[in-house]
Amino acid sequence: MTIKPMNIDPTHCFIAGRWAPCEGGETLALKNPSDGTVLCQIARGSAADIDRAVQAAQTALDGPWGKMTAPERGRILQKIGAIVLENVEELARLEALDVGKPLKQARADVLALARYMEFYAGAADKLHGTTIPYLDGYTVYTLREPHGVTGHIIPWNYPMQIIGRSVGAALATGNAAVLKPAEEACLTALAFGEIARQAGLPDGALNVVPGLGAEAGAALSEHPGVHHISFTGSVGVGKMIQRAASDHIVPVTLELGGKSPQLVFDDADIEAALPFLVNAGIQNAGQTCSASSRILVQEGVYDEVVRRMSERYSALRCGPAMDDLDVGPVVSARQKDIVERYIAQGGDLRQVAQGQVADDAPKGGAYVRPTLFADVPPTHVLAQQEIFGPVQVIIPFKDEAEAVAIANGTDFGLVASVWSRDGARQMRLARALRSGQVFLNNYGAGGGVELPFGGTGLSGHGREKGFEALYGFTTLKTVAAYHG
Ligand code: NAP
Ligand code: MG
Repeated sequence: MTIKPMNIDPTHCFIAGRWAPCEGGETLALKNPSDGTVLCQIARGSAADIDRAVQAAQTALDGPWGKMTAPERGRILQKIGAIVLENVEELARLEALDVGKPLKQARADVLALARYMEFYAGAADKLHGTTIPYLDGYTVYTLREPHGVTGHIIPWNYPMQIIGRSVGAALATGNAAVLKPAEEACLTALAFGEIARQAGLPDGALNVVPGLGAEAGAALSEHPGVHHISFTGSVGVGKMIQRAASDHIVPVTLELGGKSPQLVFDDADIEAALPFLVNAGIQNAGQTCSASSRILVQEGVYDEVVRRMSERYSALRCGPAMDDLDVGPVVSARQKDIVERYIAQGGDLRQVAQGQVADDAPKGGAYVRPTLFADVPPTHVLAQQEIFGPVQVIIPFKDEAEAVAIANGTDFGLVASVWSRDGARQMRLARALRSGQVFLNNYGAGGGVELPFGGTGLSGHGREKGFEALYGFTTLKTVAAYHG
């Protein structure tokens, strides 16, 4: 298979501006989750490839890339965004085939990737230091400088969006990046490497090495030539990354998922809330770090919300990515197994509705019926652990204090939302909720390139997206000049 229209061989990796097989030439099979067939072989990058990529990145920093001005970097990012926009359909098709997400969701991801490039292109020359009043005879100022080589280890659920937010901000600030996409979904990461090359990004400023987490991923996180690591994925691997980074005392940004709640009060506009309540749970088959998997509902509207969410769930249709139904397959047979084991653990719960898998959906596809549970105790495993599948739980509450206690009662803290017409309550809860983002009368899973994003607790630390990400991808130097 060739990745069109960029004409890339996915058994190659992208290092120092060139496409070539990985050392040893080993490959891995990439599966199509919509039918279980093998899509193509991909490169199986090793520690040796990561080493070459890190060296190429350092060479870029020491060469033309490191000497570029911020407006020049911005212009290249703008060009990358423009080429992405010229290839919306093809990139969406690749992401849909690879991840299993319905085409319209994949298209939205391509547009988000382009927006990240535009946003960080525009931001590149707007980041600057400050002057600081100090002792008589001194001028003191700060410089914002890139970390150097940044490592980006990303998951399979939103490859393009996560590349946009982390690689985009890293390049805008003058870092040189090494990207290790997930073994289950790396085609758009490879396409992105070629787009960046075509846009004129200097050799080595971005390197893409697909492969296994335990091999290429571990080698990247442990490499002494890497000066910052951005990781999105599971809590377990996040801990390993943080440990590896501690050996070299390098900063890490960890984005590890959540158990994000939406709080629906008696005075909420239920009609407005309903699409957000359901979509935030089933978008990308629930495989979204900021998915809303807990719906907390006040007693007065509880029955109505359960009934109306159930109606929507019963109408959901699940099928191949290319059929563009409401829900696609989950990413792999392994992920289907994980999610279905969780659903089985809800055997003691009140299951109120399930969506349908289309009759003609291929038998080898990783389809999971979207499943809604009600009256779920807040301490139940389905209300505590990240499932990463199309499963939501509805939890009743009596008053605001109880709602906050339940909402804050998990180890995560990524996103939360409040549905209420009471402005004072909105303000109180925006402060009381332990969460990296709080939405009031809306819910923004994934969207909003301008909005700083990241978690507390097991959801991780550090912020990506928005202007804030530029601080994370830079280090601050203080210059104190004595001139008398
Ligand atoms: P994962 O194992 O954490 O994978 C994320 C990335 O880390 C992938 O590129 C993976 O490579 C890599 N990786 C794996 N082991 C590594 C290691 N020892 N050192 C360095 N990198 C390593 O996540 P997953 O297995 O795909 O999914 C498992 C669970 O993680 C999900 O069920 C979900 O709960 C959570 N998750 C969260 C997010 C999120 O957005 N926060 C995204 C995905 C998954 P390979 O995949 O190629 O091995
Ligand atoms: Mg795949």
